Amino acid sequence: MADPNCPKCKGKGIITEKNGTVHTCWECLRKGTMDQHSKDLKDPGIKL
Ligand SMILES: [Zn+2]
Repeated sequence: MADPNCPKCKGKGIITEKNGTVHTCWECLRKGTMDQHSKDLKDPGIKL
């Protein structure tokens, strides 16, 4: 669950890097770990 007040993703829950890489917002991921089904934070969890 994305945090609408998150300064990094602005509530989207995902971050788009300048190089085009899209990944889950770590900040939101930490806050919403219980909601995220995934424990391996090293894996962005998004397959392009
Ligand atoms: Zn965020």
